This record gives sequence, structure tokens and C-alpha cells, in this order.
Amino acid sequence: MTTWVYSFGGGAADGRAEMKELLGGKGANLAEMSAIGLPVPPGFTITTEVCTYFYEHDRKYPDDLRDQMNAALTRIEDLVGAKFGDPKNPLLLSVRSGARASMPGMMDTVLNLGLNDETVEGLARNAGDRRFAYDSYRRFIQMFGDVVLGVDHHHFEEILELAKEDHGYMLDTELTAEDWAKVIEDYKAKVLAETGEPFPQSPGDQAWAAVGAVFGSWMNQRAITYRRLHDIPADWGTAVNLQAMVFGNMGDDCATGVAFTRDPATGDNSFYGEYLVNAQGEDVVAGIRTPQNLTLHGKKMNGSKLPAMEEVMPEVFGQLNDVRLTLEQHYKDMQDIEFTVQRGTLYMLQTRTGKRTAAAALKIAAEMVAEGLIDEKEALLRIDPASLDQLLHPTLDPEAERKVIARGLPASPGAASGKIVFTADEAEAQAGAGETVILCRTETSPEDIHGMHAAVGILTTRGGMTSHAAVVARGMGRACVAGAGELRIDHKSGVMRVRDLELREGDLITLDGSTGEVMQGAVPTVQPELSGDFATVMSWADRHRSMGVRVNCDTPQEAKVAVAFGCEGIGLCRTEHMFFDAQRIVAMREMILADSGEKRRQALDKLLPYQRDDFVALFKEMGDRPVTIRLLDPPLHEFLPHEDAAVAEVAKASGLSEEQVRARSLKLVETNPMLGHRGCRLGITYPEIYEMQARAIFEAVAAVAKETGKTVVPEVMIPLVSIEQEFTVLRKLVDKVAEAVRNAEEVEIGYLVGTMIELPRACLRAGQIAEGAEFFSFGTNDLTQTAYGLSRDDAGNFLGAYEQRELIEQDPFISLDPEGVGELMLIAAERGRGTRPDIKLGICGEHGGDPASIAFCQTVPLDYVSCSPYRVPIARLAAAQAALTGHAIGAVGR
Ligand code: ADP
Ligand code: MG
Ligand code: MG
Repeated sequence: MTTWVYSFGGGAADGRAEMKELLGGKGANLAEMSAIGLPVPPGFTITTEVCTYFYEHDRKYPDDLRDQMNAALTRIEDLVGAKFGDPKNPLLLSVRSGARASMPGMMDTVLNLGLNDETVEGLARNAGDRRFAYDSYRRFIQMFGDVVLGVDHHHFEEILELAKEDHGYMLDTELTAEDWAKVIEDYKAKVLAETGEPFPQSPGDQAWAAVGAVFGSWMNQRAITYRRLHDIPADWGTAVNLQAMVFGNMGDDCATGVAFTRDPATGDNSFYGEYLVNAQGEDVVAGIRTPQNLTLHGKKMNGSKLPAMEEVMPEVFGQLNDVRLTLEQHYKDMQDIEFTVQRGTLYMLQTRTGKRTAAAALKIAAEMVAEGLIDEKEALLRIDPASLDQLLHPTLDPEAERKVIARGLPASPGAASGKIVFTADEAEAQAGAGETVILCRTETSPEDIHGMHAAVGILTTRGGMTSHAAVVARGMGRACVAGAGELRIDHKSGVMRVRDLELREGDLITLDGSTGEVMQGAVPTVQPELSGDFATVMSWADRHRSMGVRVNCDTPQEAKVAVAFGCEGIGLCRTEHMFFDAQRIVAMREMILADSGEKRRQALDKLLPYQRDDFVALFKEMGDRPVTIRLLDPPLHEFLPHEDAAVAEVAKASGLSEEQVRARSLKLVETNPMLGHRGCRLGITYPEIYEMQARAIFEAVAAVAKETGKTVVPEVMIPLVSIEQEFTVLRKLVDKVAEAVRNAEEVEIGYLVGTMIELPRACLRAGQIAEGAEFFSFGTNDLTQTAYGLSRDDAGNFLGAYEQRELIEQDPFISLDPEGVGELMLIAAERGRGTRPDIKLGICGEHGGDPASIAFCQTVPLDYVSCSPYRVPIARLAAAQAALTGHAIGAVGR
């Protein structure tokens, strides 16, 4: 017999925290809290296997599910001392969805399930409060109507607004029991009108319908989109939790709230949260009432005048603080919790690992190691390498003038300047067109996720630190200012107003998510300091990784940034960019258009000093770190002029007529340049070009050695080799130049010559190529193009459809395809090492900065990965994680 239902509550539980796959995150943690003796209202979890069964059996349930649910329900009834559907003493339930990882697309929670026209009277009598009972019933109809029956919530809001207008009320709390009774009648009438059926009165029917709605929501569009964005497979399924209700809305000794065991924005080890007295469920995050701070510290920090829970309910607050410490000791990580206080008694409703900013992640990891809660390895594995990106980018220049127009809550740190947009769709459209945008909303909801993704910053005029906007922004690493109440967004006229200032779509604003300031215009930024916790964690990463981390960069400026970020060398210096400079491009074009070896050489002689100076500057910046320089790679026509003025200039410089220049460049046009006359094929046909480049490299080594006493060991890289003879010929050429420079300059010059492995044939012939090559660097951009036979520039037109239909998991240009491209790399590595056991192996494609690809590189294993400057810290951490978990991945990778 399969167990479909797992009970929890009363200090015991069938499940545990490790069972997230089966019970979902919420259910597993409710079980865990219950098992360790925390006060959790009793309930049960219907497993994710039921969800899978449901979809595999035409939306039907397993036969024995009903019996198992009834048994679990009886257990709740016994623990609570009430009966589901009993008109005198009704048990009410919450129905809560819960996937393995929290998912915004899933069905919203339904509270107070089990209420009907009869049981509401029982609740009223038992609570001694009719107003509370009717309020609970109308909330139930509203939630159930919206999320289960599909009656849009605005219908209910309209009815409520009308009721308030009729009586001249401002707040929901002013409605009396009789007023609510009337609202309930209108709600039920609305449900009948909208669905053609009366609101279901049978608690059993209510429960089954709600369970069905949770499972149904697994396949709704929002959930599907979210899964796609976060790489969550569809076959995971969701669980459903049914749990006895506790009430935070039974009076002023009741409350509900959400909290983090440490500050999720800064990582500070202080209790951080919000609560509302006499409130239920999502009232705290809904932004309808202003939530109050949990602690006096928080109240002070936010400059709030409303009393803190610490003051109002000191005893319950003390218990909650104890729970906080228990949870941290138990989970050994920062937790995000939800709680309710019913008539002075504390109940825990949820715990999960708290989302945090990258800065907070580093601080928490570093401090938890210091506190002895976790070790270095655990700390390293916990930080999402990609999130470090948030810390590497500029923050607002403290010296710059700020024209602050409003203030809100500092909901997610970082600075962002961009153009105002008012809708998520517009944000996505404009970002797609290359604009930098700030999404400005009254508040956000899960429907806005795509726009929040597209925006660099998010501004809301309503909502607190735990509002949807704040939580999602922190998770995504977007700067966010929440609840900037002075601002008014008028959607109809498309303006945002503050006092007499009017801002329109497209106007520039700046957000400082660390202070909550909203500024007019774009404010200049400065590079962040990378010290403190960042440096500590990075030093641990360096200690635990085995692969080196290099940078792909072409200029001394980039090299400087990369060295500050901890790179250990240059893995790819592309020389072609160096020729686009205004002074050089003419000589370059002359060289290309030359009709004899001699003319070509004359032009190259003009380029030589420039190129040598480039390398001198780069070598000086890199000290004695290795520098891999790729000889000219792109097809020559990329350098040729198109505009008339440029054509004239080249004609003059080269002594040709403009006609001749045009004719020559026409001749160089290729049908398929990606597979054409480029890479080492240029070196074979025009050896003078590579000769000049090699000379520039070695003369630069000599110059720097003489000037600074430091000897760079350049690694000369020959691109696009597919035939081993190509390599043999060109290596000889490089050796000859090195010898000549050595003799002329009378300095010792050490260097390596190797190749980029970027064609499938090169992978297969790696054993032969390695006879002459001292290193391989995997050029995985071209290797991906050529392995798939897929042009990177055209893939965008259809790869999206492949991803949508789940034919591929990931764009192979972003994350290395381990099965095909990876297999080619493994073959090349094995054959290369077979010939030359100490051959140096690296990667210099885009993938060198992608954590999943780095994990694959560990399995080859490579000696180093190389990536763009801002990815260097990410690669250092990802390489450490790969080394710490490498064995398991290696087994699969092979
Ligand atoms: P979400 O996944 O959106 O956080 P939850 O299932 O946690 O949804 O429910 C949202 C809120 O509903 C909770 O924070 C809590 O305030 C309220 N809630 C859920 N279950 C109960 C319950 N058994 N008793 C009282 N309130 C509950
Ligand atoms: Mg919750
Ligand atoms: Mg290439």
C-alpha cells in the first residue's frame, strides 16, 4: 500500500525536512517543526506522488486516498477537539499548496475552509464573537471563490467597497457582524451569477475542490513560466497541505506575522520581521494595512512610529525569539518564518530557508562559520555563485548629487538607474529592445515576474519589506524600493506624481535599494569595495578549488579589474580588437588589400609597434601571471570599409583607386564566413600576419623584462586548427620568430605554443595535435556551433521554441552541453593527455563563467577556466563548489 498522506502536529510527524521531494517544502518543514516540538497546528500533507498520479490518470485520484485522508482528518479532530463540518463545534482548515521549492505560480492558500451557513454559527458561538465568524466566512468565500471557482477577486472587492461606501466606513474593521452577513449574501449571489452554481455548502466538497485546484494549478501558465525560468522539471509535482486553522483575527490579543531569523538584506544577525494585530493570513504582505515591526531595533531602523511586537506582546515575542534561535540551531541556516498568535498563544505556520541578497549570503555564511554552526565547505556550497554579480557592479557615487524625490523602504540593495515603465509587459518589451528600465507599480504580484526580471530596479508605492516586490527583488538581485507612499501612480494618464512633479514613462530615475531613496535622473556610480566577508569567502573558495581561474580580456583596463577580482592570468586575449583603433585600422586595411607579400609586410610594419605597445601595457598589468594571446582569428573582410569616406581614405593610403578598393573587398566577401577564411587559415595563407604578431609578443616580453625585471611567459594560441599539419607549420613560424627576437634582444624568452580546440575534427585529432601543442584551450563557443552545426547568430530565431517545448533543457551557448560538446572535450582531453601527459587544458568560451559548465570542466578535469572580468569571482566560487562536489558529478559526466 502506498502512503499518500503524511500527518503532523501534536509534537509528532510522519515526515521530516529531508522529504521535500515527497512532501513539498512547506509540508516537509511543517513536519520537521512539529517533530522538534514547536507549536504547529495539526494537519496532513498529500504527497507529490498524488500529483503525479493525478496527471498520469486523467486527473483522477488513487482509490485509497479518501480513506487515508479521512484517517488523517480524524487525527486532527482529536488533537483540536473539533469536528470538520460539525455545526456546533466546527473544525476549520487551511488548504496550502507546496512544491519542493516555493513557487509563485501555485494556487494561493485558502483559509477557513469548512465554513458554511450552519458552521459559521457554531464558530460564532464558540468564539463568542459573531463579527469574527462572519468576517472569517466572507474571507473564505472570497478566497475560495477566487482561487478555486475562478471568480475574479475584483468582484468581491467591489461588493466590499460598496458596502463600506453605504455606511461611510473607511476601514474593513468598521464593518459589524450584520454588515458582514449582508456582504456574505452578496458574495454568494455573485458566485451564483458568475459560475451558475451556488457556493458549495458541503465542507467535504469544499475540501476536494480545493485539493483539485492545487493540483490543477501545477499546470497553469504562471507555474509553467516560473518553472521554465528556474529550471524546475514539470514531473516534480506539488503537494497539498490541509491544516487546522488558528486565528490571528479574534481580537487584540491575536496577531499574524512573517519574519526572518536574520536580516535578509544585510545579513545582520538581528531578528527581522513584521506583524499585524488582529489580522489573518496575507494581510501582512497584502499592503492593505501598514505592517508593524517585530522588534524595537527594527522599528528604530525603519523610523516607524507604530508599536513593535516586542512592546505590545512581550511574552509571546519572547517565545517567538526562542523559536528563532531553535530554528537556526536546528536548520543551521537563516529561516523565513510565518506565525500566528491566537489569544496569546503562538503557532508556527511555516519555515523555510530565507532568500537573501548576495551581501547577506556572504555575511551569514561567514558569521555562521565563526559561530561554529557550519564549516567552510558548507558555507561555500550555500552561496549561489551567480548572485555575486550583485556585489561586483557599481553602487551610487557617495559624492554625486542626488535629487531625492521620494523615500520608501530599502527593500533590496543596489543602485539602479533607468527609464520609467509602468507595466511588466512594457518592461519586458523595452528591455528586449536594449533599454534599461525601472518597473514602477503600486504593488507587484506574481503576474509581474517577467517584468521584474527584465527591469534593473523595482519601485512600488505600497507594501512593506516582506511584500511580494521586496521578496522577489531580493531573490532576483534587483534593486528595490518598496512602499514609497508619497508617489502616486496614475495608470490612466501614465504618470507618476510626487507633490508638483510629474514623471512620465521613459523619464530617467534612480533607485537606491540600500537607503530607500528614489531620485530624479541618472546618478553616477562607483566600483564597490571587495573586502570583508567577500574577501573571506573568496579566500575559502581559493583554498578549496583545484582549477585555476583566468580572465578573457583584451585591454590593460579590463585586466586591472580582473586582477582585483582575483584572476590568475589571461586565458584569452583577442588581438583583433586592437586593430579597430582609428590610427591602426587604415594600416590594417592596407595590409588586407595589399596585392603582394611585400606590400603586406610594409603595412604590417606600421602595425607592429602598436601591437607591441598593446602587449607591453597588458604584460605590465599582469605581472608574472600567464597571458594567453590568440593570433588573428576573424575573417579579414570584417575589417574592411563600407562607407565612402573610409573607402577613400584607404584608397589614398594604399595608392589604389576607390574602385580597386571596392573590388578587392567584394572579392573577400564569403558566403559562410563562420566556416570560411579565418583562424589559422589566415596564418597559413598570409604567414606575415602571424609573424608580425609573434614578433610583437616576444619583443614586448623582452621590453617588459628589461624595464621591470619581470618575465611574462606568454602562451601563443593558434585558433581554429582542424588539421594537425596546420599547427605544425605555424608552430615552426612562431619558434623562428622567438629565436630571432631572443638573438636580437639578448634576453631569455620562455613561451608556450598551443591551440584553441574549437572544431570537432581537432577533438578527434587531439592526440596528433598534442605532439606539437603544449596547451589546449577549449573554444566552446565555436565548438558548440560546429558540434551542433548551429550558427550562434541565427539560433535565437528558433532555440526559444526548443526550450519552450522542452526539447532542450538550456541554450547550449549559455550552459555547456555536457552530452555532445562535453563528450568532444573529454575525447580531446584524453587523446591530448595520451600524447603529452602534462598538457595544459583550459576553457575560454563564454561557458568558462557559467557555474554549471564549470562543474562539468571539473570532471574533465581542466587546469583552469577563463571568463569575462566580472565573472571571475563567480568562477572562483563555482570552481570551489565543483571541487567540493566534483566526484558525484564526475561519475555522471562520464
Ligand atoms: P504562501 O505559500 O503564499 O506563503 P501559505 O500556505 O504559507 O502561502 O499561507 C499564507 C498565509 O496563510 C500564512 O502565512 C498564514 O498567515 C495563513 N495560514 C495558512 N495556514 C494557516 C492556518 N492553518 N491557520 C492560520 N493561518 C494560516
Ligand atoms: Mg507562506
Ligand atoms: Mg573561435
